[in-house]
Amino acid sequence: MVITTRPICCAQNVPPAATKKRFEMSSYKQPCLHCNSFIERDSRFCPVCGNPNPFTFNCPACLKEIHKKQLICSGCGRHLYIACPICGKQTFVQEKCEQCGAGLMVKCQNRRCEVMQFFENTKCTACGKKIKK
Ligand SMILES: [Zn+2]
Ligand SMILES: [Zn+2]
Ligand SMILES: [Zn+2]
Ligand SMILES: [Zn+2]
Repeated sequence: MVITTRPICCAQNVPPAATKKRFEMSSYKQPCLHCNSFIERDSRFCPVCGNPNPFTFNCPACLKEIHKKQLICSGCGRHLYIACPICGKQTFVQEKCEQCGAGLMVKCQNRRCEVMQFFENTKCTACGKKIKK
């Protein structure tokens, strides 16, 4: 059995971390759907806007993943395009009105919860308490 020993200095010439980093910089980031900041693709939440689903839209009522081409949620049947309460134009059910940019989320009134909820929700998706209008 022959083991070829290489001089240690040669192995250290090319640090593998440097080439890997350049690859990550160019292809590892993806824009957050909610604030358009480029963030890492494996982020659990957006570090810029704090959204827990940076690459997907989720039904505001049942939290199932939804897409902009759907009209109705396949999980609970709610309409995914609604009239904005501020400008009256049609918008997708997301954090902000697509037309006027008005915020469509309200904070859960349960002080121990305070998770942002879609304004039309009658029940908090996090703690289950009723949301009073
Ligand atoms: Zn974001
Ligand atoms: Zn739903
Ligand atoms: Zn609007
Ligand atoms: Zn709540």
